[in-house]
Amino acid sequence: MLYRELAETYEKIEGTTKRLEMTDYLVELLKKTPHDIIDKVVYLTQGKLYPDFVGVELGLAEKLAVKAVALASGVSEKKVVELLYNYGDLGTVSEELLKKKRQKSLFSFNTDEKLSVEKVYENFVKIAGTEGSGSQDKKIKLLVELFNVATPREARYIARTVVGKLRLGIADMTILDALAAAFGDGKEHRKYVERAYNIHPDLGYIAKVLAAEGVEGVINIQIEVGVPIRAMLAERLPSLEEILKKMGGRAAFEYKYDGMRIQAHVTKDKTVLYSRRLENLTSQFPDVISAIGEAFKGDNAIFDGEAVPVDVNTGELLPFQMVSHRRGRKYGIEKIIDEIPVVLFLFDVLYLNGEDMTTKPYSVRRKALEEWITETDRVKFAHRIVSDNLDEIRLFFDKAIADGCEGLVAKNIGDESIYRAGAREFLWIKYKRDYRIELIDTLDLVVVGAFAGKGRRKGTYGALLMAAYNPDKDSFETVCKLGSGFTDEQLAGLPRMFEGLLLKERHPRVWSEIEADYWFVPRIVMEVVGAEITLSPTHTCARDVVEHGSGLAIRFPRFTGKWRDDKSPEEATTTKELVEMYRSQVKKVEK
Ligand code: AMP
Repeated sequence: MLYRELAETYEKIEGTTKRLEMTDYLVELLKKTPHDIIDKVVYLTQGKLYPDFVGVELGLAEKLAVKAVALASGVSEKKVVELLYNYGDLGTVSEELLKKKRQKSLFSFNTDEKLSVEKVYENFVKIAGTEGSGSQDKKIKLLVELFNVATPREARYIARTVVGKLRLGIADMTILDALAAAFGDGKEHRKYVERAYNIHPDLGYIAKVLAAEGVEGVINIQIEVGVPIRAMLAERLPSLEEILKKMGGRAAFEYKYDGMRIQAHVTKDKTVLYSRRLENLTSQFPDVISAIGEAFKGDNAIFDGEAVPVDVNTGELLPFQMVSHRRGRKYGIEKIIDEIPVVLFLFDVLYLNGEDMTTKPYSVRRKALEEWITETDRVKFAHRIVSDNLDEIRLFFDKAIADGCEGLVAKNIGDESIYRAGAREFLWIKYKRDYRIELIDTLDLVVVGAFAGKGRRKGTYGALLMAAYNPDKDSFETVCKLGSGFTDEQLAGLPRMFEGLLLKERHPRVWSEIEADYWFVPRIVMEVVGAEITLSPTHTCARDVVEHGSGLAIRFPRFTGKWRDDKSPEEATTTKELVEMYRSQVKKVEK
């Protein structure tokens, strides 16, 4: 097939903003495409070589593409860069320069040699796969080879594609429309094509099956371990009452973890991880892969869950940003894993030991998940309750927030509660809090206990148990575990510093429901900053004052480096001050 056919279609598509017209042009193109290369034509039209989940990107550095354009058109690189600055698009620059060159050398240009789709695709694949020494020159050569036989119009699209900027503005859904129209009866068959896309989001593959076997073939496409499934998403409603009503009066309520969605595809010899956007995350989470290997004893499976960073010393969940550090990293992963390990909270199983689980109701899937996964330190089930009681659900919501989550995801537990790949519907409904209490002031807190350090902190304390002072009861009430903000020397010096204050058991003036490894006489005051104050069912600070059954806690506390030697423990921040801060600093945040 000639690349000219593609270039002509692209030009027409660029000339319209109407989705229906775009679809018609695509249908026309697909109908005349030979079946054996239809997948390549689809990928090229998407500006890619493979579906995203394969993880191979074309994206040649613009600098190299500029060199190739200069060589092919016989002008200096400087000139190309200048034009690029003016036009802002390497495609147009290539087109203009080639036009000029061809006008000058009309006779020397061999117009018999025509560029095929196969050749363009082949060279692109080579460009994407060339690595190591001398690879830059090889890439430039492969591109020049294409420019030498391309018409100016073809060069426009080749240049854009190779630098990853084809951008025809065709959404996947438009390609699905076109496929259904080109190989089926359009409307009726569209839903089969879309179903296939949701469980096998590879438009080239779907086009190939359609072209070879028709709609029947597409109906037979099944979930495959290794090929990502489009993630099921949650609708939202503004109140727990409405959610419960929508769910038919009873539902499962799971913690909504604030981390990174991970779909894990597991077989005996290989595990692959995908993000919510179906990017391949495998190399960024070797720790998650070995953790799943330990927790799962079956043959093969696809799991859905959220990876959340944890503080090794306090066991508490950390802000999401700390997992995002791993994104796109190829090197230095080992160090990050040591410093910021993640826990994978599993909430679904989509495939298990050769069986498609997506067609089974939520409760069956959850039960299978619990049967086949053994919880470890690093792999856990999403915390949940099944309830029809609003008070109970509200308390569970507060607990979720206090535990560092964003809120809850309610899940339908009826027979209809299948896993709807790619859908945002009311089978899942998220409920996030709409407030945030921001801490501006620093707090002066009293050290009442400590926890033994693990890993790098072995032999010293991993975290300190901190309290505020309640003058009415003359008691020290816990508000947080403090594990960050220390220098290595400060950490190493902690046991010696508290030696003289060690007790066999909790000091009578300390009110704590947390069991510390070491207890101290409340004497040392430290300055602490935190991200916010939350309700907490475990900490005792101002227990029952703001809400029955809850105390207050500081989220993400950090030592400022200042020891408040000038303050006695009775001069520390009081529980009443914390209540006032909680009440006065409530700010609405976007849901
Ligand atoms: P949002 O990103 O606000 O639309 O919320 C949906 C996201 O919440 C999902 O894509 C998951 O990454 C995340 N999530 C956290 N916990 C759960 C859970 N228990 N069930 C489903 N999704 C969850």
